[in-house]
Amino acid sequence: MITRRTATRMADGRELIYFDDSEPYVSGGATRRLDDPRPLPDRFGPEPSLPEMRQDPLTGEWIPMASHRMNRTFLPAADSCPLCPARPGAAYSDGEVPDTDYDVVVFENRFPALLAPPDGTAGEAWSVDGDPLWPARTAAGRCEVVCFSAEHRASFADLSPRRARTIIEAWADRTTELSRLPGIRQVFAFENRGREIGVTLPHPHGQIYAFPFVTPRTRLMLDRAAEHRARTGRNLLRDVLDAERRAGTRVVLTSEHWTAYVPAAARWPVEVHLAPHRDVPDLPALDDAERDDLAAVYPELLRRLDRFFVTDDGAPIPLPYIAGWHQAVVGEGRELGRLHLQVFSVLRAPGKLKYLAGVESGMGAWISDTTPERIAARLQEVGR
Ligand SMILES: [Zn+2]
Repeated sequence: MITRRTATRMADGRELIYFDDSEPYVSGGATRRLDDPRPLPDRFGPEPSLPEMRQDPLTGEWIPMASHRMNRTFLPAADSCPLCPARPGAAYSDGEVPDTDYDVVVFENRFPALLAPPDGTAGEAWSVDGDPLWPARTAAGRCEVVCFSAEHRASFADLSPRRARTIIEAWADRTTELSRLPGIRQVFAFENRGREIGVTLPHPHGQIYAFPFVTPRTRLMLDRAAEHRARTGRNLLRDVLDAERRAGTRVVLTSEHWTAYVPAAARWPVEVHLAPHRDVPDLPALDDAERDDLAAVYPELLRRLDRFFVTDDGAPIPLPYIAGWHQAVVGEGRELGRLHLQVFSVLRAPGKLKYLAGVESGMGAWISDTTPERIAARLQEVGR
């Protein structure tokens, strides 16, 4: 067995799942159990307040409204990190993983932007102020946290292929499980790394959002993919990968099953995509060989990104980044999807951030300060 999965519940009913790759757990020599000592109130107490979402009549976009998130933890000291394992005898006792160690854990976010009602339905629909111009619904999705390591100062780039593989197993497991929940249209696994991205917890972790709607970027991509399919009969993402491999100029890394390239119309100061050679819709569809390969290729790609910028005396600057998995949607449009990872950064030079100002934020129109070929050349250079 590669990974052992043990599902448990926290004191307030949230699910917490261990994914173990080390002994004695992985072989079954011992079994994880969870004894959460915290007096947490039931999440669905006498008056459950579920997050709502409203549809913008001008764009059709759904906007979840999670005002309770204002109270969430912000940049705690290492000795009060809620993602570190518990230390026996320590004063701090509000950690989210009530265990003294773990390999990889996934649990439901304590401050979720999306939350399904406990009755197993997709929630309710109504209109704001009773006017049908403003549809509103329960934001009935799910938000999970994935702890990549029990080490507070670790980063994904430094993880062993073995541990990276366990995280891939966890992502695939969660994609399968969350896709089955009522009303879920899309599962998005991602990592925000660095304070510049707005990370409130430095502990190495990612998140998974199960959306009850198709996100705006995916909607645009599905429309383009449908046009391409109608015109050519082919999958757009497949054709993009083939074209990038043919051109070769922006390819930064190739392995047996994966290719990383800077897309020909990249918009961020640093951006790279990683796609499998075989047509697969999502992470659960990857076979063992593809997962093994990914577990080596992805950390290598992240290590290169950490060498993209250097200080005046040549020391590498860990790159703040967002890494997100684009997976096929659940239901209508699924056949148009193809798995790929998008990694990008707002850092445009050491100490200088790209701000999303008037043109980007106001109009959603992008102006790049560099060229994809320049980004690719640097990522090729630091790989040598
Ligand atoms: Zn920590």
